[in-house]
Amino acid sequence: MNKRDFIKSSALLSAGLLTGATGVAGNKGFNGFTFASSSMNSQGEYQLPPLPYAYNALEPYIDEATMRLHHDIHHAGYVKGLNTAVKKVNEAMDSGDFSLIKHWEREMAFHGAGHFLHNLFWSNMGPSTGKRSTTLNRYINQSFGSFDRFISLFKQASISVEGGGWGILAYQPDGDRLVVLQAEKHQNQTQWITIPILVCDVWEHAYYLKYQNKRGDYVNGFLQVVNWDHVSELLEQAIR
Ligand code: MN
Repeated sequence: MNKRDFIKSSALLSAGLLTGATGVAGNKGFNGFTFASSSMNSQGEYQLPPLPYAYNALEPYIDEATMRLHHDIHHAGYVKGLNTAVKKVNEAMDSGDFSLIKHWEREMAFHGAGHFLHNLFWSNMGPSTGKRSTTLNRYINQSFGSFDRFISLFKQASISVEGGGWGILAYQPDGDRLVVLQAEKHQNQTQWITIPILVCDVWEHAYYLKYQNKRGDYVNGFLQVVNWDHVSELLEQAIR
């Protein structure tokens, strides 16, 4: 394992639930979609990927001002914080001084989770809502009973996240099924091994400019711009 791979895998391990999502978002072998790539630069630093569509492409549901603030300021902050944490963890290994390792591991988890979840979040949405694959429909029906039952669960789970966090649809290999999870504070793992395939950002920065305290209206708007082609493809990758 070279240094770059090591840095990458240690950050991924720290980020916990995100291994699957990151692998998919960074997968260059994918056909048919423009992904927000999570690839690193030649110095082994994480980079902020450009949005896979225009800042105003999700209007009127997600407004341009929110997208600019969310992507250019908030997501960029996670990337910067992740690179700092990775550097500090490497310095600790170099020097043998691990006295602050608990702090930097937490920083790496917080910023790493933020970075990888946002990569998935941008790609989960799009100006075209696409169409759910046969496989995705089958897994949704088997796991939740029907698409309407899944949507009502995903919506209520997202709306009721305590404080900042995420609503997550994930593939659970152990049960070969889909599960809806809440991530309160995204650095906290909610279920190991599961592979997120659809995430709804419910931190206030994701909607406050346009929707203020009406998180339910925002989640309804988010559901209008979900790119189901992308979610279907992520499920195919997960179950393969
Ligand atoms: Mn966010």
